[in-house]
Amino acid sequence: MGKERIVILTGAGLSAESGVPTFRDKDGIWAKVDYREVATPEGFARNPARVHEFYNMRRRAHAGIRPNAAHAALARLEREHAGEVWVVTQNVDALHEGAGTQNLIHMHGQLFQALCNACGSRAPWAEDLSLTTVCPACTNAGGMRPDVVWFGEMPYHMERIRDLLEAADLFLSIGTSGNVYPAAGFVAEARASGAHTVELNLEPSEGCSLFAESVYGPATAVVPAYVDRLLKDL
Ligand code: NAD
Repeated sequence: MGKERIVILTGAGLSAESGVPTFRDKDGIWAKVDYREVATPEGFARNPARVHEFYNMRRRAHAGIRPNAAHAALARLEREHAGEVWVVTQNVDALHEGAGTQNLIHMHGQLFQALCNACGSRAPWAEDLSLTTVCPACTNAGGMRPDVVWFGEMPYHMERIRDLLEAADLFLSIGTSGNVYPAAGFVAEARASGAHTVELNLEPSEGCSLFAESVYGPATAVVPAYVDRLLKDL
């Protein structure tokens, strides 16, 4: 087996069959909720209680949710491939780590983590957040927010991600609509570095023509089949 370096970008489509709603699909979250109210720093400044309510609800909704066969296949790829495998996820759920993926970057933050606006510290967070939540590090009350990257904010770990894309031999994009930058630009960066690029999605994404190869279908079917093939071929 070769030592190809594999970088995998994942989006909401990967978790859809676990029961986590996607964002921009017909029945997605942004069809029901105005993202400007709940997913921007301005929305949080205007009505922090509304934003807490939205993320408290999402946190509670994750209680019974489990990783699916696609998460499991990516964890298996990391375990069994002789080269490095990295997952860069736009998802704020904890399903990749739940399936056993270790080399994981949460570029849009994590639902189960809180960030203190007063001292900048982060803490694992499974409970509700409110206007009176006290920061465990600095004891300031009222400055805690979900550690999720909102529209208009810079995604996390971009330097590390760019280094990984530059060194990639194979780039997979799975379950993402390809219209939120900078993640939507990763395929072009990987191509420029000479990587083979593959899209796995329910349907062609906005940037589908940028990929050298594409596989369409539900993630729980196409991802395990693709990983099986990859582990045989590499
Ligand atoms: P998306 O909803 O835009 O796209 C989901 C994609 O998955 C679609 O292309 C759809 O065809 C596909 N899909 C649906 N079901 C599938 C299945 N069963 N198998 C395979 N593919 C399936 O989600 P995205 O691309 O992840 O969106 C980009 C990011 O924008 C989000 O991940 C999110 O982090 C982000 N964002 C969210 C917030 C927030 O919630 N606060 C804020 C800023 C940005």
